[in-house]
Amino acid sequence: ESTLYVVATPIGNLGDMTPRAIEVLQQVDVIAAEDTRHSKKLMNHFGITTPMVPCHDHNERQQTVSLLARLAKGEAVALVSDAGTPLISDPGYFLVREVREAGYRVVPVLGACALIAALSVSGLATDRFYFEGFLPAKSSGRRKKLEALSELTATWAVYESTHRILDSLADFNQVLGADRYIVLARELTKTFETVLAGTVAEVEAILQEDSNQCRGEFVVLVEGCKEEKASDIDSQTARLLQRLIEELP
Ligand code: SAM
Repeated sequence: ESTLYVVATPIGNLGDMTPRAIEVLQQVDVIAAEDTRHSKKLMNHFGITTPMVPCHDHNERQQTVSLLARLAKGEAVALVSDAGTPLISDPGYFLVREVREAGYRVVPVLGACALIAALSVSGLATDRFYFEGFLPAKSSGRRKKLEALSELTATWAVYESTHRILDSLADFNQVLGADRYIVLARELTKTFETVLAGTVAEVEAILQEDSNQCRGEFVVLVEGCKEEKASDIDSQTARLLQRLIEELP
């Protein structure tokens, strides 16, 4: 049927695997997986015996050629990542683009996504939001990026790992200020699921006092800066322009 199915898998709770995902993964001719060993466990759990091939950041281009050849023969292909929705901070965009441009159908099979799950329980404005993926690993690069993000008026989000959460929060404090309101969503759908909301200083203090709160996987959501603050920058610019105009002959 020459179709690429982009299939979401759970982010920690097997109960979030959808019946449609199971059916599609059973019926396709091949599953392209970010990490075949990792996905094998999921497939075993659901009794899915479809052959798997690896498709990750380092082989996506070669793998695309061979998957296109399969589609050309009329085969169906599924793409999965280690967890959640493929392409969301996960490999696959090159494959998806090439498959569509070759004229084949690309079909989403919906399911878990940590970003959307976190937003849905955040209590932050979600009419507009911006997703930055992972921040730079080094503090200097991270601060630079945070400076740019600090002026967004929409809610924004980053993914963060257990290794860097405290260092990142220290940079949040430095760049965004201790009082910016954030929501930290940890281990969503898993046993130790925790959602902490408060100022950067409050959330940082909770993590500093309890190392258990630093464990696991995180989505950090940040309230956008107030519109007045954003327009403050505009009024600064306006004042500068006014002064420049005054200097004109
Ligand atoms: N494609 C995935 C999705 O749809 O969410 C994201 C993949 S990305 C490589 C992995 C990151 O997602 C983790 O480092 C963490 O920031 C976030 N993440 C994944 N599962 C999570 C969970 N159960 N709770 C909180 N964050 C999670």
